Amino acid sequence: MKVHNVELTISAVRPEQYPVEGLPEIALVGRSNVGKSSLINTLINRKSYARTSSQPGKTQTLNFYNVEDLLYLVDVPGYGYAKVSKKERDKWGRMIETYLTQRPNLKGVIALMDARHEPTELDIQMLGFLHYYQLPFLAVGTKIDKIPRSKWNKMVSNAVKKTSFLNHDNYALFSAVNKTGKELVWDWIEKMVE
Ligand code: GDP
Repeated sequence: MKVHNVELTISAVRPEQYPVEGLPEIALVGRSNVGKSSLINTLINRKSYARTSSQPGKTQTLNFYNVEDLLYLVDVPGYGYAKVSKKERDKWGRMIETYLTQRPNLKGVIALMDARHEPTELDIQMLGFLHYYQLPFLAVGTKIDKIPRSKWNKMVSNAVKKTSFLNHDNYALFSAVNKTGKELVWDWIEKMVE
């Protein structure tokens, strides 16, 4: 995808504020600091368009980025992820759950995790949540530039071994520093929204 035009259409909290044109949407979820803003900025060829890192005290919103009037990338605020139990659901946040579970326009979710570590319990809970709600997802291991290429295979195998939600087809590696994985992520997005 050649991206020239991107616009932050709305920072929404409630469903009434979501965009109404009916464009397909791809949500990006991940814990704070995982590299979500950097990935969005890389995808849309900007240096610092999406907010970077969590700003404590700032209102947490769903940020809808209109890309070329073709689709929305939806930046979901970094949260702790929850399994599908009442208690955990409350922690996950009503806003995020409402969006992820009740938005017909949502065609896929990019779930970020730090590639330098095995998926954490919270990462796995997040994948379980997406699986439970039958949301197509691509897991993306970030900051791969920090790992020598010779260790990539082993790292992916370890991640796949750690949770049945991951396999060699739904786990991609990414770097915002050298753009590894950018085309692969765009290919997946285009497949989901077509
Ligand atoms: P967010 O909180 O998930 O939006 O994370 P940010 O995109 O703000 O990134 C958090 C930190 O990780 C920042 O210091 C980034 O510079 C750094 N970071 C993000 N992506 C990468 C990457 O691909 N490689 C490296 N080396 N650092 C990254």
